[in-house]
Amino acid sequence: MIKAKNICKSFTDLEVLSNVSFAVKQGEVISIIGPSGSGKSTLLRSLIGLEKINSGQLFIEGTQVKDDNKIAYRKMGMVFQGFNLFPHKTVLENLIEAPLVVNKEKKALAIKRAENLLKKVGLFDKKNSYPAQLSGGQKQRVAIARALAMKPDIMLFDEPTSSLDPELVGEVLTVIKDLADENITMLIVTHEMGFARDVSDRVFFMDQGKIISDTVPEKIFVNPESKRIQTFLTKIL
Ligand code: ADP
Ligand code: MG
Repeated sequence: MIKAKNICKSFTDLEVLSNVSFAVKQGEVISIIGPSGSGKSTLLRSLIGLEKINSGQLFIEGTQVKDDNKIAYRKMGMVFQGFNLFPHKTVLENLIEAPLVVNKEKKALAIKRAENLLKKVGLFDKKNSYPAQLSGGQKQRVAIARALAMKPDIMLFDEPTSSLDPELVGEVLTVIKDLADENITMLIVTHEMGFARDVSDRVFFMDQGKIISDTVPEKIFVNPESKRIQTFLTKIL
C-alpha cells in the first residue's frame, strides 16, 4: 500500500528525515511514536505531499508519487491536531466541499455519503452546526468524517487527540479504533501509548529523523530493544 525508500528531507541545513524506509500493507495500522522534533509530522506531511522530499522514492499502491502525479495523494486522507475545519461552513458543508470541488461528485450523492459518515461518528444531529458550536472532540470527529468523505484508502492521523481536554480523548480514539476494525490502512502519530498498543499491528519509533524501531506493539511496550526507547516510554507513561 505504501513503500518508502530512503526518504530524505531537510529544512535549509537541518536534516529532518534521514534515509527513512518502510513498507505498509493494505489494512495495517501503524502507530508512530517518538520524541518531539523527531520528524513524525514531517514524515506524514511528506507522504501526502504537503512537504516535498529532497531524495528517495515513495510509492502509493504501486505508483510512484512525483510532483507531476498528484493522483496518488488523493488515495490518502489526513487528520491534524488542530482540526482545520472550514469555520464559515456547516458540518455537512465541510464534508461535501472536497467531494464536490475536487471529485466533481453529484451533490445528492455527496450529501448521502456525508450523512452516513456523520451517523458513523455519532454527529448526524450536528450536521447544520458550525465548527465554533462544537466541542473539540466533536470537531475532531467531523475532521475524521471529512477525510473519509473522499473515500481514502489510507488515513494519516497527526496527534489527533493532543489538543483535546482529557475527557474528550476517548470519543475520538473510539472512532479511530472502529476504523481500524474496518481494515482501512492507517498511520497514526500518537502519544496515547495504551491506544497504540491496542490498535496497532506495528509501532514505528522515530528518533532524530530515523525510524529506529519497527516492531509489533507487544515487543516495543513490553521489552523495548534500546535504552533510548525505554527512556522515552518511562517518561511518557
Ligand atoms: P515531530 O512531529 O516529531 O515533533 P516535526 O516533523 O514537526 O517533528 O519536526 C521535525 C524537525 O523539523 C523539528 O526540528 C522542527 O523544528 C523542524 N521543522 C518542521 N517543519 C519545519 C519547517 N516548515 N521549517 C523549518 N523547520 C521545520
Ligand atoms: Mg508533530
